[in-house]
Amino acid sequence: MSNLSYVPESNGAWQTYLAQVDRVAPYLEHLKDYINTLKRPKRALIVDVPIVMDDGTIRHFEGYRVQHNLSRGPGKGGIRYHPDVDLNEVMALSAWMTIKTAALNLPFGGAKGGIRVDPRSLSPRELERLTRRYTSEIGHIIGPQKDIPAPDVGTNPNVMGWIMDTYSSGQGHTVTGVVTGKPVHLGGSLGRIKATGRGVFITGQQVAQKIKLPLEGAKVAVQGFGNVGSEAAYLFANAKSKIVAIQDHTGTIFQPEGMDIEALKLHLAEHQGVAGFVGAEAISNDHFWYVEMDILIPAALEGQITVERAKKLSAKLVLEGANGPTYLDADDILIERGITVVPDVICNAGGVTVSYFEWVQDMASLFWSEEEINQRLDKLMIQAVNDVWKAANEKVCSLRTAAYILACERILRARKERGIYPG
Ligand code: NAD
Repeated sequence: MSNLSYVPESNGAWQTYLAQVDRVAPYLEHLKDYINTLKRPKRALIVDVPIVMDDGTIRHFEGYRVQHNLSRGPGKGGIRYHPDVDLNEVMALSAWMTIKTAALNLPFGGAKGGIRVDPRSLSPRELERLTRRYTSEIGHIIGPQKDIPAPDVGTNPNVMGWIMDTYSSGQGHTVTGVVTGKPVHLGGSLGRIKATGRGVFITGQQVAQKIKLPLEGAKVAVQGFGNVGSEAAYLFANAKSKIVAIQDHTGTIFQPEGMDIEALKLHLAEHQGVAGFVGAEAISNDHFWYVEMDILIPAALEGQITVERAKKLSAKLVLEGANGPTYLDADDILIERGITVVPDVICNAGGVTVSYFEWVQDMASLFWSEEEINQRLDKLMIQAVNDVWKAANEKVCSLRTAAYILACERILRARKERGIYPG
């Protein structure tokens, strides 16, 4: 499938991405001639990141920044610090960013970066040195008009602050727009932290209306009670849905009459996990998938909805808060069973949408209130999900395929209209 000399023909994330593109190709008509644009990254940089450790020894880490596609604007995508990071994964993640920004019609391409490192094994000073050296190594390909990193697994607003400072030092002036997801006092945006969970709720609310599933009284199961899962659960509970089951890394809790999400947040602050929440029953992690539910929100990890689980799931609606939570073959079963899936590229795009707002605010040096951010976010998410719904009806396909069709059409139309240099 992949004829790129530097990517092994293994069953990695990049191969999954290519299979998704192959599924969409038949719908792309005259743009099909340009499809190879999507099957190779525009630019992939591998860097050596040497740092002096606190004990005086020198260690070398491998870092990456991949710009998958820049046809519609600067690259956009996070930076991951994790021991499993490799080129295959970063390429796939960058490609999914290309699809996501295009599906939302944001004026960006897709990019992603990472360092193969366990950030918890480093001291704060080592982490800062690693971040600054990595920034200087990728500094010539990033920039507010070139490629704008953001946090991902293992990185956070503080890391973005170091990247901004290092890049700015090289430029000789402060460049806030080089990264998003910064602390608010360094040019970050209000509303960013809750944006992804909010987007999950807004897209879910729209689609629930269309499939005539009332939110009031709907039974909701949420996997992951972090940034994304907790805000989504809170907003659904506010809309009078019943949050019946929640799973996190500490276990699974079940309460058929619905949980008090505010109380659960307080429990979490004290116990660092949902396990032991008073009033809820502890059930096995496997049982989570088979409780009676109307809406399932996977908001933790990739690869959670397997064929086995898809066959027995009682949900009518799945909202993909996490990236890639559903296996391709399990997706086919959900479609066969008539279960509606709002795909990750739309459902969890609230974060990148508010990152776009952060970049715009940095450019203008004019900052919006949280209320204004949320209004703009809701408007873009509603527009995106309605466009995808309409395309799915017209093409008679799933929402995932429709989102990919719309995104790929936008990217390839841009490629076609820009032309192939030098012609
Ligand atoms: P987070 O670290 O805040 O929370 C992760 C949650 O998953 C925690 O509740 C954790 O306990 C739970 N978890 C971890 N391992 C688990 C396991 N084995 N079983 C069950 N639960 C487990 O992360 P987040 O920011 O909420 O992100 C969640 C997902 O959403 C990720 O897939 C991420 O890539 C995706 N996502 C996040 C954003 C964002 O803006 N934060 C944007 C797009 C996509």
